Amino acid sequence: MKYFPIEVHKTIFDINFTRLYAKGKKIILCDLDNTLIPYSESMPSKELIEWADRVKAIGFKLYLFSNNKDTRVLPFSLVLGADGYLANAFKPFMRRTKKFLKQIHASFSEVVIIGDQFVTDIMVAKCLRIDSILVKTIDPKTQKWYTKINRLREKRYLKKLAKVRPELYKLLKEKEIIHE
Ligand SMILES: [Mg+2]
Repeated sequence: MKYFPIEVHKTIFDINFTRLYAKGKKIILCDLDNTLIPYSESMPSKELIEWADRVKAIGFKLYLFSNNKDTRVLPFSLVLGADGYLANAFKPFMRRTKKFLKQIHASFSEVVIIGDQFVTDIMVAKCLRIDSILVKTIDPKTQKWYTKINRLREKRYLKKLAKVRPELYKLLKEKEIIHE
């Protein structure tokens, strides 16, 4: 119950990356499904490609990490011009993400993890002591079975969060990131 994002936003477009960079973040490790695009889409939109160009122009290295398979993450990563990706990340377990970050010689304090799920994306960030940003799930209707299981865990997590960190819980509701 000690894992909290440093920021919460409705979409990735609402994040101030210039400020993050000024704070010392240099590497973005971003979830794919329902953070950047819904499951129902396979290619990034024009807006998303422009977003990726923008963060790279600021100076960020952009990496994707996803529980989805290589055949989904690879084409998306290529079109987006990402610096690399990790498929089958096996979140919420941190082992593969940790190994990946070591392979790309990332200093953990320079990394920011972005994702739409507390119990996978934010959990991995917490285990690795990496700062994280939570965004709203783009389309909850398009989730896969394993994500639905994680959503049940998330419900329990949010119940606890309301007690332990009421101000964060309130912010999540205000921003309509959660609806419970
Ligand atoms: Mg996701």
